[in-house]
Amino acid sequence: MHAIPSLSNRQLELAGLISEKAAAAQWRDWRWQLRHTIRDVNTFERLLGVSLPVRDRRDLELTVAKFPLAVTPYYLSLIDQDDWANDPVLRQSFPQAAELLINPHDMIDPLAEDEDSPAPNVTHRYPDRVLFYVSGVCAMYCRHCTRKRKVGDRDTIPSRKVLAQGIDYIKRTPQVRDVLLSGGDPFLLDDGKLDWILGELDRIDHVEVVRIGTRTPVVLPYRIDDSLVDMLKTHRPVWINTHFNHPRELTHSARESLARLADAGIPLGNQSVLLAGVNDCPRIMKSLVHKLVQNRVRPYYLYQCDLAEGLTHFRTPIGKGIEIMESLIGHTSGFAVPQYVIDAPGGGGKIRVGPNYLISWSTNKVVLRNYEGVITTYTEPDSYAAKFCDRQCEKCDLQLNLADAPEDKALGIARLLSDSDETIALTPADNDRARRRDDSDSA
Ligand SMILES: *Cc1c(COP(=O)(O)O)cnc(C)c1O
Repeated sequence: MHAIPSLSNRQLELAGLISEKAAAAQWRDWRWQLRHTIRDVNTFERLLGVSLPVRDRRDLELTVAKFPLAVTPYYLSLIDQDDWANDPVLRQSFPQAAELLINPHDMIDPLAEDEDSPAPNVTHRYPDRVLFYVSGVCAMYCRHCTRKRKVGDRDTIPSRKVLAQGIDYIKRTPQVRDVLLSGGDPFLLDDGKLDWILGELDRIDHVEVVRIGTRTPVVLPYRIDDSLVDMLKTHRPVWINTHFNHPRELTHSARESLARLADAGIPLGNQSVLLAGVNDCPRIMKSLVHKLVQNRVRPYYLYQCDLAEGLTHFRTPIGKGIEIMESLIGHTSGFAVPQYVIDAPGGGGKIRVGPNYLISWSTNKVVLRNYEGVITTYTEPDSYAAKFCDRQCEKCDLQLNLADAPEDKALGIARLLSDSDETIALTPADNDRARRRDDSDSA
């Protein structure tokens, strides 16, 4: 069906260095790749064929002791040996002593994922969807991982018994219509276990979609084999989000793995992280998103690098992300443009940021600017019969099929905008004014 791409000379050379008996077929065996994952600096160095400056060695060992190293032979084969020091693949996979620098604002669990956890391995933050950590292992340990705190806990492959508790939480929480399988990498589970999890979720009526977040198309594309894809096809709508950060990662093998998934009818998205020294460049990002859409992958999110410990050297100012968004919006296909988001420290969730296009307004006109710098106006309608919405939808002349209506009350800022809710302000609870009010209430 799909042509098998031939190995590069570098890959053949590496296969031989790793194991004399290795044949090309073994290189494409994902279990062989995992068995030969590189986990120490010396082997990394030997296979890369460079010797790293000696001054760094002790710091490197300390770094690896704190944040373990793991990279597949496949991903290592993408490093350019002639310019390894600036290589985006090396920077994402090889430790740097800078990871030991902890900034005053860094946090161990910046997104408070462990706090919003009503059941083991579940984070329930948004009204209708949950994050479900089904695997504690990855093929490659991304140096920029937001869950660095957990990386290398090899004992965290959850048992069926533990997973059953998460499934049970989802079962008894009817608001959950979207389940995100994450980890670790869910595709490092064997097909049988993944099939079991997906099967359990299929049986829950209120779960409408399941998403899987995986980096295997980037670091272990051979994992996307026929048996995995055939299994995925038997389950309820499954969406896959992958994690390409640099156009170099879209190799022949990676593209082939994406084609298998897309041919199986699985919608594909991509989440990138904005990383200093890797992809903090409008031209690199444009090239990345173009390659993604050519391979039927919709750029979904561009994340601001978060405040997890050990990521200082990867962070850019927010302005870099906005500059990149400015260079994409309008300049290229709308569906090639990801949403730039900051995952709010403390558990506020993802917040979209970007350039501003609405520059002024009056009572009947707004002033806008476009990507070229054209300043234009839009005149608003003189008459718009705004209806007072009391949320009595069954009496409304707009045709909402009530059976399909998702929610019956407005939340958050949407609540401030709503006619039917009397809330006029959202007030922080944790300040002196609120405490004074509480005191006088109880007096
Ligand atoms: C990112 C995330 C989600 C999914 O958010 P979407 O914006 O729907 O992709 C859900 N739960 C948690 C805790 C998350 O961090």
